[in-house]
Amino acid sequence: MHTDLVAALDIGGTKIAGALVGGDGSLRVRAQRPTPAREGAEAVMGAVDEVLGELMASPLWSAARSVGIGSAGPVDAAAGTVSPVNVPGWRAFPLVERVHKTADGLPVALVGDGVAMTAAEHWLGAARGHDNALCLVVSTGVGGGLVLDGTPRPGPSGNAGHIGHISVDLDGELCPCGARGCVEGIASGPNIARRALENGWRPGPDGDVTAAAVAVAARAGDPVAIASYERAARALAAGIAATATLADLDIAVVGGGVAGAGDVLFDPLRRSLREYATLSYLRRLTVAPAVMGTDAGLVGAAAAAIALRR
Ligand SMILES: [Zn+2]
Repeated sequence: MHTDLVAALDIGGTKIAGALVGGDGSLRVRAQRPTPAREGAEAVMGAVDEVLGELMASPLWSAARSVGIGSAGPVDAAAGTVSPVNVPGWRAFPLVERVHKTADGLPVALVGDGVAMTAAEHWLGAARGHDNALCLVVSTGVGGGLVLDGTPRPGPSGNAGHIGHISVDLDGELCPCGARGCVEGIASGPNIARRALENGWRPGPDGDVTAAAVAVAARAGDPVAIASYERAARALAAGIAATATLADLDIAVVGGGVAGAGDVLFDPLRRSLREYATLSYLRRLTVAPAVMGTDAGLVGAAAAAIALRR
């Protein structure tokens, strides 16, 4: 029986997850550590080594043929380095070389977390069977990835599809990236909550001021909460429409914590998309919620490693 496995790593600002993944995308062995994001480069790498060490202690490790890494970005896939915004100790950190060394010299593939999520949704999730797709992660930030002509396309640096920093408001607010009116500055969870608060929404007795709390208020009919989600939906729709118009897409898959708002986000998103994606060849464009959940990063990292072996 064919039992080749891939060791997958999902590296984020709060946790480092690892798994041995089967050729069918099943997660066989898992390991996880918190990311010591405020500590130095070696402390963070120490946590990665602990996760890998736990996977390597499994009797299944002998079947591992490669390692796939999905990391918070930006990443530089060509150089094998990562500089995650939320992990200040890592700037141009040579993650591929270090993991290669720890993992018995196995080949290592690196992609950004948005690209990993996209690979997972295309392999086994909501974009399965779609040859031209944009997948978005809408949470603290807004990331994404592209599938073109049936294949996830990370681009030479591993960041293609990073829709969060497309400008949809020419004279909009300055973004930390240096541009103005970026999708992320309007549609991310913290920005949905900030806009609601600025316009008079107040949290309930629990004091929860997250986008999830704004979604609860929107569902209960609060007009300020509804308006904040509608503006986020318009920004996402404009970004998706621009991408779909350029790349001739079939589907946009939206995941991440903000997608958990359900119809509060998806109803205005579908409505706005009809306003912005107007050309005849975009009539087939649909929007769907992501289905791979929190394992998308691991499954997508495994998909990237399998693609490397081909
Ligand atoms: Zn930006």
